[in-house]
Amino acid sequence: MPQLITEANELATAGVTISHLSKSFGSNLVLDDISMTVAPGSVTALIGPSGSGKSTLLRCVNLLEQPDRGTVTVGSTTIEAGAKVTDRALLALRRQVGMVFQSFNLFPHMTVLRNVAYPQEKILGRSRAEAEERALTLLERVGLRDKAQQHPGRCSGGQQQRIAIVRALALNPRAMLFDEPTSALDPEVGVEVLAVMRELADSGMTMIVVTHEMQFARDVSDHLVVMADGHIIEEGDPRAIMAAPSQERTRRFLSAVL
Ligand code: ADP
Ligand code: MG
Repeated sequence: MPQLITEANELATAGVTISHLSKSFGSNLVLDDISMTVAPGSVTALIGPSGSGKSTLLRCVNLLEQPDRGTVTVGSTTIEAGAKVTDRALLALRRQVGMVFQSFNLFPHMTVLRNVAYPQEKILGRSRAEAEERALTLLERVGLRDKAQQHPGRCSGGQQQRIAIVRALALNPRAMLFDEPTSALDPEVGVEVLAVMRELADSGMTMIVVTHEMQFARDVSDHLVVMADGHIIEEGDPRAIMAAPSQERTRRFLSAVL
């Protein structure tokens, strides 16, 4: 498979730092003083039981949710909870972070080509010709150029997720967040998506990946973070933690998913 990122100027990867982040929904404290650092070009896998706050954490990183306390830094942009966030700072941060969801979230009424081109036109102000050219280049790289004129509904789940990844990449993000990108897919189809993610990691993209795919976490991630009840209960080398978790709750979680 060709490299997803070939030109050096496409990849200005950035680190992500989360510092003392807290978030409640009503009286439910969902993230309790979370701090973590993702080095530029590294991959962090985020695991933990359902309801532990993984999705909320990712959503706080690109400010789909407003944290109550703490800061999020991507590259040279820092957003502080509570402080008056200017639209400009918000946009600056969002532009640097691409996100891929479990449920693809493609625009059903647009062709695959328009799905990938339209956000570039809207968000980056690229011309239609320029955006579509870039879309075709990226679709080619994930083996989906022949789907360009079809609607997403005609594509398999694995193809739709690869299109969603390409759509995010087309905006030249400096970091990518993945929220259980293969959970809605049959295992044999999930493999195609994981292959694209592995390639992206090899290209040097900074990534935070919420996943239950322990083989991916073991083989691709540089760092493993285990969450439970809004806390980081354990983090470190993925292989070391999988071989010998220090926390009983990690052990229980791993024995359920491995
Ligand atoms: P995970 O991704 O680890 O399964 P989530 O971040 O989705 O966990 O959820 C953590 C907790 O926050 C859960 O108790 C969930 O019900 C709650 N929660 C998440 N999003 C919202 C929301 N928009 N409004 C209220 N509660 C929410
Ligand atoms: Mg979740």
